[in-house]
Formats: sequence, structure tokens, C-alpha cells
Amino acid sequence: MTIKSSLLECDPSVAKLIKNELSRQENHLELIASENFASNAVMAAQGSVLTNKYAEGLPKKRYYGGCEYIDEIENLAIERAKKLFSANWANVQPHSGAQANFAVFLSLLKPGDTIMGMDLSHGGHLTHGSPVNVSGKWFKTCHYEVDKQTERLNMDEIRKKAIENKPKLIICGFSAYPRQIDFQAFRSIADEVNSFLLADIAHIAGLVATGLHPNPIPYCDVVTTTTHKTLRGPRGGLILSKDEELGKKLDKAVFPGTQGGPLEHVIAAKAVAFKEASESEFKIYCQRVISNAQVLAKQLQKRGISIVSKGTDNHIVLLDLRSIGMTGKTADQLVSDINITANKNTVPFDPESPFVTSGLRLGSAALTTRGFNEKAFEDVGNIISDRLLNPKNEEIKEQSIKKVSELCKKFPLYSENI
Ligand SMILES: *Cc1c(COP(=O)(O)O)cnc(C)c1O
Repeated sequence: MTIKSSLLECDPSVAKLIKNELSRQENHLELIASENFASNAVMAAQGSVLTNKYAEGLPKKRYYGGCEYIDEIENLAIERAKKLFSANWANVQPHSGAQANFAVFLSLLKPGDTIMGMDLSHGGHLTHGSPVNVSGKWFKTCHYEVDKQTERLNMDEIRKKAIENKPKLIICGFSAYPRQIDFQAFRSIADEVNSFLLADIAHIAGLVATGLHPNPIPYCDVVTTTTHKTLRGPRGGLILSKDEELGKKLDKAVFPGTQGGPLEHVIAAKAVAFKEASESEFKIYCQRVISNAQVLAKQLQKRGISIVSKGTDNHIVLLDLRSIGMTGKTADQLVSDINITANKNTVPFDPESPFVTSGLRLGSAALTTRGFNEKAFEDVGNIISDRLLNPKNEEIKEQSIKKVSELCKKFPLYSENI
């Protein structure tokens, strides 16, 4: 073997498994709300020779030589990110959404400070103060919940909680909340209790970039996101701010604070994704993501399955399976049997454990990338309803597998040459 050998020659085992995974992605209905399919262009950048380069530091301020092209690439990514989100400062180096949040904590907080985020079981994220995460181990935490009746955020309740607990940092932005976030209302609460405000838009970044969800930048001290969910880029993180002075502190918190060398191949892929997201086709895509999610929610409701908060404003549809006397764990297995990929998820005030749950979380971003239209999403809603409402019916199961396969053929994912 030489470094010139192809992957197939060098390592047939890994080559075969990648091929199998491609086939799985092509032949299953991908409804995991945090997933998407990156473009060939994004993947080409990510699979490039840039993976070879060390570039600790920032463009023009590196600890290694040979960074002339790397600097241009990283600057392109930074400038495109700032323009896309109307920010004055950006750091494109965080390896992931969790890393981006950790860097923010390092720059704004000291161990023992109080942070306030949404409860994990109501749609928050592990990095927003869960006891199993560093955010819950090193900081005091308090959590807000959604309203029991509307299953939406109640800003008056959040304000009360903030006044009671005086957090140093308030976090808004969620993993399983299907409604728009009122960043301005969060800002006024943060001002009242004199706390920093972080918006974590990991899920909705594509919708924010295209103006289909309000932009948090004017209201928040810092904004973090992933680049691989609705934004449809490579797996990675991004930090943004309107405040360049705070940006300098955040730069130091990323490197040397919490990371070593940046992944410049991923940063190049982020630059490509930011270009794609600034084009008019991407806005049309994001409009379809929302309308498709709404069609899916409506179809499930028609069939008697309740949807948390009775609908959606974004790509997320959260099924409340208590309406049909089923757990999330069972539903997850049932749809998996017919080649649909989703995840069990807690619903607000869930009586079941996080391992069992009463919910199933669906998202429309990935299938919309494949070209699924409203009619196809109506079909998907019916296939899921048929399966969940008739769990023991083998005939319906077989028919559903066939319908899934037909949809996959009708909307192919990548071309052959990948
Ligand atoms: C997905 C997500 C993250 C974490 O992103 P990773 O890239 O998996 O680390 C952080 N915050 C929110 C709200 C998320 O949904």
C-alpha cells in the first residue's frame, strides 16, 4: 500500500461499510430532525487535502507556517458566515455544536455561576445544564419549561424563574421545540436580571439564515449553532456575535481555551455550505422544509395522532403518542421495521423515563433535500399512521415497506458517482 492507493485497495472493509451506509441512506426514509444530506460540493471540500494542515490560531495569526491558502479559506468562511447571519464577528472553528457552547461558557462564566436553559425533557439540549454534561456539573442550573396547556414557551413564567434564580447566562434555542422563539422577549428578561443571553440555533440555523425564522443576532450577546442540521453543511459548529470586542474573548475561548488545531477541511466545507445557503434556491428549500413539516403534522393529526403544541412553525414535528396509548420506544421500533428512521423523544411533562418516552420526533429537512414534496409528505404521514395504528398487522407492514421503497426510488438521493 502507498498513500496513492484508493480506499478500496487500501481498506476494502471500510470501503464496503461506507457503501452499505450510502445504500442505507438511499433506501430509508430519514426523518431524524437533526439530520440532513450535505451536497457533493460540501463533501468534496471536507474530503480534501486540507485535512493535512495544522493551523492553530486565526488567519494571519497562526502558530504554523504554510497557511497562506488556509487563511484565505478560513477568511472566506468567516466573511460568508457574518454576511449570512448579519453578524459583526464569527468563529468557524468549533468542531461541533457542543464545543461551540463550551467555548461560550468558558468565556462568559466561572465554575459555580448559574445558567438557565430549557429543561431537557421539554426540548432543551444536554449542553444547556443537564446534570450529565459539563454544563450541569460545573455550573448551578435552573430550567424553564413549556406551558402545560399550550405546550409553548410562556415568557411570563420564564421571567419569574429568571428573577428568582438570577442566572449569569440565559440560554434560548432548542432541540425539540416546534415553535418560533421570541428573542426580543428573552432579551428584555436578560436585561432585567442583568444576565448574558445565548441563542443556540443549532436546529433552526437554515431557517434563520433565510429569514424564515427571526434572527437572534440583534438581541443576543452570543449565538451558537451547528452547521449540519437545517443549514445542510458539514458536521460542525459556529459562533456568531454582533459584538466584536466580546468576539475577541470568544476567539480565545475556542483556541487555546477548549480546542487545538482547527479542522480546516471542515471549515472549507462550511464556507461552501454558507455560499449554498445564501443562494435563492436555499430559501425555496427552507420554505418547503416548513410547509412539508406542516403537511406531515396535519396528516398525522387527521389520523388521530396528537402533535405537541398542535402543529409546527419549523422543521420539527413531535408526536405525543399518549393519544394512541403507545410509548416512544415502541413507535421508534415500529417505524424502524418499515425502514423509517426517527427517534423516540420525551414530550413535555412526560410520565415515561427518557429511555422509554411518550414521543417520536420527526423532522422534514433531510427528505426535503431529496425533493420530497407536500404530496410525498402526506404519503409519509399516512405510512407512519398505518404502522402505528396497526402495530400487529403484518399485511400493512409489508405494504408499508413497499411504499417506503417506492418513495425512495421516486426521489433519489445522490447520483451514482459518489
Ligand atoms: C444538536 C444540538 C447541539 C449539539 O450539536 P453537536 O454538533 O451534536 O455537538 C447543541 N445545541 C442544540 C440546541 C442542538 O440541537
